[in-house]
Amino acid sequence: GSGPSSSAIQAALDNAYGKYRGLNEGKNADYIPALAEVPSNFFGIAIVTGDGTVYQAGDSKQEFSIQSVSKPITAALVMQESGSKLIEDSVGVDATGQVFNSITAVEQYRGKEMNPLVNPGAIATVGNVKGTPDEVWNKIIGIHSDMAGRQLQVNQPVYQSEAATNQRNRAIGALMSAYERFPSDPAVAVDLYTRQCSINVNAVDLATMAATLAFGGRNPVTKKQVLDPSIVPGVLAIMATAGMYDDSGKWAFHTGGVPAKSGVGGGILAVVPGKFGIGTFAPPLDDAGNSVRGQKAIIDIVNELKANPYAQF
Ligand code: GLU
Repeated sequence: GSGPSSSAIQAALDNAYGKYRGLNEGKNADYIPALAEVPSNFFGIAIVTGDGTVYQAGDSKQEFSIQSVSKPITAALVMQESGSKLIEDSVGVDATGQVFNSITAVEQYRGKEMNPLVNPGAIATVGNVKGTPDEVWNKIIGIHSDMAGRQLQVNQPVYQSEAATNQRNRAIGALMSAYERFPSDPAVAVDLYTRQCSINVNAVDLATMAATLAFGGRNPVTKKQVLDPSIVPGVLAIMATAGMYDDSGKWAFHTGGVPAKSGVGGGILAVVPGKFGIGTFAPPLDDAGNSVRGQKAIIDIVNELKANPYAQF
């Protein structure tokens, strides 16, 4: 695809890194105890373009748990395996207007009309992957690894920390099961979901995943066709409407609706279709749950590289 020059990309990345590396706003997530212990000053940015070039700044190889950035990936897996209609009908594709782990949102439509990027929808999405628990896990870690272009592993301390404190997600999984939103055992679905959220990635991995989504499901680094191109627009649409928690509207306002997903581990994956993928890592979050420095960096990069789709003039 066409896009900005390599020197313009590296300059945009370096500018954002330099501008925000010293910014000391926000707070690590601490409801998962292990996340509170991650050094808050980590800051990494990466961009991957269609020819597979990787641009980096800062702590771009520092690993952290993917958390909710995994949610669109597993949604893609289910859409690929069972058709986009299954996600639309069983999980939903509408923003809830509620926080990511809202039980009120589940109750409002008896488990329907959710989306794969909030916890009830994400747990139901995992519960819709076909197979035994081992088979489901292999598919989940497999698609994340294929999109990152390397074999990923679970961060065991984060997994154990969340598994010991995820009573609310277990309740959400049980409710979604009671409303028959997925066929598998809810305790198994929540456990697999928790493991999925604990997968270790770095900013380069997120940028590579984003670039895979930017180029029709083909990983531009490994050249592997990971996703059926036909499902990619739907995945990106869900990200554009619900990827940045309750600030998805604010995000659209600043980026022109660049599809993105953030996670409470401090990662953000952002997709500029046909141009490039961005991955960032900076643990401190704002009140909505989005990485403070990550958001600012991506907003600057998108605007500097003229990637806001509403500013094409
Ligand atoms: N594993 C986290 C949870 O379920 C993910 C939350 C997130 O990143 O939004 O609470």
